[in-house]
This record gives sequence, C-alpha cells and structure tokens, in this order.
Amino acid sequence: MKKRWYDYLWIVSLLYLLLGFFNILFTWLGLLCFFLPLIISVATGTKGYCNRYCGRGQLFGVLGGRFGLSRKKDIPGWMKHKAFRYGFLIFFLVMFLLMLWNTYLVFAGAQDLQQVVTLLWTFRLPWHWAYHGTLFHLGAAQFAFGFYGVMLTSTVLGLITMMLFKPRSWCVYCPMGTMTQLICKAKAGKQP
Ligand code: SF4
Repeated sequence: MKKRWYDYLWIVSLLYLLLGFFNILFTWLGLLCFFLPLIISVATGTKGYCNRYCGRGQLFGVLGGRFGLSRKKDIPGWMKHKAFRYGFLIFFLVMFLLMLWNTYLVFAGAQDLQQVVTLLWTFRLPWHWAYHGTLFHLGAAQFAFGFYGVMLTSTVLGLITMMLFKPRSWCVYCPMGTMTQLICKAKAGKQP
C-alpha cells in the first residue's frame, strides 16, 4: 500500500523524545499530542488521530513489528477491562494535575525550579543538562520538565507493553485513547 506522509509520524515522535534530551523546552510541542486527538474526536466523532496521526502508536508498531521487538502475545483480559482502563485514566489524570500543581507553585514563586524528570511517577532523574534558561517565566520550564516526565513515562510503559504483548498493546489502555473513545461514544449516544 502506498505510504502517506502521516505514516512517518513515528519519526516525529522519536525526534520529540530526543529533542527533550537536549532542550527541555521543546517538550511544549507535545501539547499537540494532547489537544489534537481530543479536537479530532470532538469534531468528527472518530478516533481519526489514533488511526492515522499518532506517531507514538506508530512507533510501537514499527519497533514491535518491523524490528521484531515484540513477543506478539495477546494482552491479558484484565488490561482490556473497563475497570483497568478507566482506573488508569483516572490515575493518569490525577498525576497530570499534580504536575500542573507543581508548575503553578513555581509560577507563584512558592517553589524553586526542579530540573528533574520523574519517570513512572516515582524516579526523579536529573535532567539539568537539557535546560539552558528561558525568556519566559521559570514556571514554563517547570511545565516542560513535568510534561516530559509524562511523555517519557507513557513511552516507557508503551515499550514494556509492546515487548511483552502485541506491538500496539499500549493503545488498549492509553489514557488518550480511552478519552477519545469516551468522546466518540458520547457523540454516538452510546453508554461508555
Ligand atoms: S491509543 Fe494512544 S498511543 Fe495509541 S494511537 Fe491512540 S493516542 Fe496514540
């Protein structure tokens, strides 16, 4: 099948992670991956973003499929269950709000800039080499460090799931996928 430009968005995803290694402020670009899926599903009532434009999903497909880094086993039933997917979505959103709260504290001057990236909501990795100052408020940099942690965490979880199960198994419980699915169901007037 003829390849389209959007079939190569996995390269953009990879570049995005690399750029955050050199300059944390590039992380702000990742907000596109947050808003575009929601906008597309609200506007069209479809998971068009997941099906076409998600570079991260493609990246797992490429690494697990083309590069053979996946065991290609079925994902366990409990991971597909609503309780797990919605529970994970709620957990993810709570952690996201916590990250926003830390950003607010820096904006408010109540906390110093933390030049760390928190992986898997637990491990605080030093990341000071990726910060070279900013014209904006320090809070903008704090958001970048926090958001990069969110992106890196979801990528690491996705890679682990890719290796253990089928390449795109992360998509089964990806919070963004769950949210867009809920929007599509709401638009179609179905029960979640
Ligand atoms: S479920 Fe998540 S990772 Fe998978 S395609 Fe959709 S947004 Fe991308």
